[in-house]
Amino acid sequence: MIVDRQGRRFRNLRVSLTAACNYACTYCVPDGKRLVAAQDELSAENLARGVAYLIEAAGIERLRITGGEPLVSPKLDSFLHAVSKLDLKDISLTTNGQLLSRKLPLLLECGIRRLNVSLDTLDAESFRTIARGGDLATVLKGLDEAHAAGLKIKINMVPLRGKNLDQVVPLLDYCLERGFELRFIELMRMGHLARDGNAFASQFVGLNELLELIGQNHAYLQADAPVDATALRYEVPGQGHFGIIANESVPFCRTCSRLRLSSTGWLHGCLSSSNRHYVGDLLDKPRHQALPALQRLLVKALADKQELAFSGGVTVMKIIGG
Ligand code: SAM
Repeated sequence: MIVDRQGRRFRNLRVSLTAACNYACTYCVPDGKRLVAAQDELSAENLARGVAYLIEAAGIERLRITGGEPLVSPKLDSFLHAVSKLDLKDISLTTNGQLLSRKLPLLLECGIRRLNVSLDTLDAESFRTIARGGDLATVLKGLDEAHAAGLKIKINMVPLRGKNLDQVVPLLDYCLERGFELRFIELMRMGHLARDGNAFASQFVGLNELLELIGQNHAYLQADAPVDATALRYEVPGQGHFGIIANESVPFCRTCSRLRLSSTGWLHGCLSSSNRHYVGDLLDKPRHQALPALQRLLVKALADKQELAFSGGVTVMKIIGG
């Protein structure tokens, strides 16, 4: 097991199945162009072998499938079938929900029981302005169907000044009514926001402001969260929970256990670091050759983790996998 001086190790793996996405969210991509799949993306078979090797080499316990938008990828079916056979405690998926209705039978067949669905607003007009793709009613229908099928659902919302702050309470109410857990994600300095400090600062909404906004409408208490959780958790007594991923206000770097594998075969040990380590060529090799080389790269990837605080990075979230 590879452990660093702060006692951190990789437990949670995020695999970006593709960089392609059917949205072009303003805070994720700068120019409104939806990203297409990279030419050199790995096959479903190699990505799944990557997961299997990382379970052994790094001690990965939990897998989250992300992107880009994982549900647009033609690799989804074979990747899910392959990883569902691996020795993992949990497999979950992050999606914008646009294709959820259509892909739900496949998700259920492959044993997916937890979903994070990104939804920044319940207002159709601001949805179009922020996502620059997709259709709100389609996402809500997919959510209803996934809920009815018994999936555990978290909703990811990035609060943005001037764009969707009026949606914080309506989204919280929507989630509490359905038993979904809302996760507010503080805006991160990723991609174009790492280069354009003004665009970041003018839209950023921090933990205290969010709690104040929520507190005007709901009484809440701080709740327990697992040690390596990235979200601070709160309880609205008698109604449910919500969380805040406060990368800026309360950095969680000291307990971060995440490792990311991009669709093109790069390992990222830290969102904040521009270092990455190519493993695509190892995934064609037999286990006895691949594992020692992989372990050497994992030592480097773990050393990329920030000591204290998240400082952002120029990598676009869609590429690295959110
Ligand atoms: N397409 C899927 C989705 O929409 O959930 C998965 C990929 S998306 C990159 C994963 C998550 O990253 C989304 O919840 C999105 O809101 C979040 N995200 C992207 N850029 C971000 C940024 N600069 N700051 C905070 N969250 C960001």
